[in-house]
Amino acid sequence: MADPYAIWLSEIMLQQTTVPHATPYWHRFLELWPRVSDLAAAPRETVMSEWAGLGYYARARNLHACAQHVTEEFGGIFPDTLEGLRALPGIGEYTANAILAAAFDRPANVVDGNVERVITRLHRLETPMPKAKPEIRRLAGAIASPDRPCDYAQAIMDLGATLCSPRSPDCSTCPWQFACEAHAQGDMTRFPVKKPKQPKPVRKGTAWLVQGERGIWLRQRPDSGLLGGMMEVPSTDWSEDPAPAQPPFEADWVDRGEIRHVFTHFELRLSVREASAGADWRPNDGVWTPVEALDSAALPSVMRKVIAAGSR
Ligand code: SF4
Repeated sequence: MADPYAIWLSEIMLQQTTVPHATPYWHRFLELWPRVSDLAAAPRETVMSEWAGLGYYARARNLHACAQHVTEEFGGIFPDTLEGLRALPGIGEYTANAILAAAFDRPANVVDGNVERVITRLHRLETPMPKAKPEIRRLAGAIASPDRPCDYAQAIMDLGATLCSPRSPDCSTCPWQFACEAHAQGDMTRFPVKKPKQPKPVRKGTAWLVQGERGIWLRQRPDSGLLGGMMEVPSTDWSEDPAPAQPPFEADWVDRGEIRHVFTHFELRLSVREASAGADWRPNDGVWTPVEALDSAALPSVMRKVIAAGSR
């Protein structure tokens, strides 16, 4: 049996994030915390800073909470049922099924983006995504093999990832070509049907990049919400219609241009303004972070862009 802890970590870190360079993060987590109880015992700030760069920071918080739950409630042993796995923090339908199949070789209905493509083509499903998801899940469940569940799940995901590619499916070597309705009609690449894309709203704000004798002024974001618990360069609210920005103190603020960052639901444009703080200025909140400690700080990519725009 595969190690459920390593499988769970890989599902969260490699499948649920879209960054192409996630594999070294997975190795690093396993090296730092070889067992789930090691991860549970780690300070959350350390976990967040090791996660920095992967995005989707709520997942890092859930990852840590889940490790603590498995350690405290189940003695460090992952549940081996769908219901048990679904009840853990941060584990959704896909991840629970994937762990069930890969770690326990139990019958499961693993549906990722590749499987969605295969199923919508097999049935020429006209319902657009994401509305089609429940129907896809039902159709995928109907053909999921109860024999060798781990191999079956891997095989259908591989079929989607290799032969049934988004733009040029290789139907001539596909074992399901004779059952595939899209292949019969020759319109494979029309599936899955997508809703026309809406442009993302643009939010704007101003980031205050303050250099002091003891480093750069950073602040921790609230636990809940976007980038929760991560460090940030303090800024105004991010809004589609921002009010005029009021700097935190009087100084010769230098305009360092604008950085852009695309989140799932909006594009952010931050004007970066930089100043040196006098020795007598004390921020109401936040901490001074030495420049040499920035690399290991729990800073999301957008904040690294802000700091890179500065004069340092
Ligand atoms: S026959 Fe072609 S379109 Fe249909 S599942 Fe196979 S690779 Fe995909």
